[in-house]
Amino acid sequence: MISRDECVARDAGDELAALRREFTLDAGILYLDGNSLGPVSEAVRVRVNETIDQEWAKGLVRSWNEAGWMAAPTRLGDRLAPLIGAQPGEVLVADTLTFMLAKLIGAALDQRPDRHVVLTDVANFHSDIYIVQAMANRAGRPITVKPIDRATLDDELNGEVALVMLTHVDYRTGEMLDMKGITTKVHAVGALVLWDFAHSAGAVPLDVTDADVDFAAGCGYKYLNGGPGAPAFMYIRSSWQGVLENPLPGWLGHARPFDFELDYEPAKGMQAFVTSSPSIIALAALDGALDVWDHASMSQVRAKSLAMTDLFIALIDQRLEGVFEVVTPRDHAKRGSQVALRHAEGYGVVQALIERGVIGDFRAPDICRFGFTPLYLRYVDVFDAVEHIVQVMTSEVYRDPRFAVRNPVT
Ligand SMILES: *Cc1c(COP(=O)(O)O)cnc(C)c1O
Repeated sequence: MISRDECVARDAGDELAALRREFTLDAGILYLDGNSLGPVSEAVRVRVNETIDQEWAKGLVRSWNEAGWMAAPTRLGDRLAPLIGAQPGEVLVADTLTFMLAKLIGAALDQRPDRHVVLTDVANFHSDIYIVQAMANRAGRPITVKPIDRATLDDELNGEVALVMLTHVDYRTGEMLDMKGITTKVHAVGALVLWDFAHSAGAVPLDVTDADVDFAAGCGYKYLNGGPGAPAFMYIRSSWQGVLENPLPGWLGHARPFDFELDYEPAKGMQAFVTSSPSIIALAALDGALDVWDHASMSQVRAKSLAMTDLFIALIDQRLEGVFEVVTPRDHAKRGSQVALRHAEGYGVVQALIERGVIGDFRAPDICRFGFTPLYLRYVDVFDAVEHIVQVMTSEVYRDPRFAVRNPVT
């Protein structure tokens, strides 16, 4: 049996331990939901306050020029690029994720005008499926969107397929897909690939260059801690730049926005995928949130993430044998940075845990989801969270009717 003292000792030897102090986390809370909304860091507060008090209050409209506001989407894109293995000039930060996906889907479909099928995962996030269907309906030619069981992808790939859109880490189960292997297969039939990194960026090592990914996008508010509704990012491989067209063009993606020309001419590089005014305060928050990555490498984060999820799974196995089904793969190569436990009364279990300060979340129909974020969680937090889970399950408090009332956000 793994003891609490062993966990305390692991924390004492943890290279990332000091980073926890950068984040604001209430003492009574065990926060296992950074995969849904990351916590706020001191650097975020500082950057947002500077942006308001200096750039906005004093600089006013001059700050579009003097504080570099116009360049913020591409500057932040360059800052984020190393986290996904991209090069400078290949990443843009703007909008939110569903909008980014819309732009990339629309642009990608234009590049395969003779093909009529889009494949996506039936287990994909619902928003991804809605937007891919909507963009396909508006592509100007008949396109069939097939949400498939991803295990059958090989059988579905053929010369009719224009685009394959997949989420790299399954939001429900935490399973991580083989990005390079799948990308290679998709390219072998001449199709394009779009990866959703919502649960990958800041959580697992990514190398879009090595995997030869065409397009990718992800959100800023999950493992990147950019704040509620933070801007998203998109990646377009350099070889596509100047070829791919933004299907939602706006003035700030124009080569000369202040010439007010009526004919659209795209700016060079990622700027062409900017549609409208950048949300400067939100970008400042994300900028501050990225500071922590100056002090942590993705390989350190991955090593601790796997150690924490291994620890959580081992404790659940030892202390609650047969109570939950561990849905997340035990194989490291297939695991993101969360653990999903299946239980028929999962909603009540998660609500009972939240009442005790253990914050995870629930994904219908029966998944209790716990995110493990190495930047601010300790091994002892994992131990204590499992202790609470044991108490909730053995007392059966989760059956209490007060935990059956569904909140709008689960
Ligand atoms: C969180 C998440 C989203 C959220 O999209 P927004 O447009 O930022 O609200 C989309 N797709 C996936 C796979 C997600 O996990």
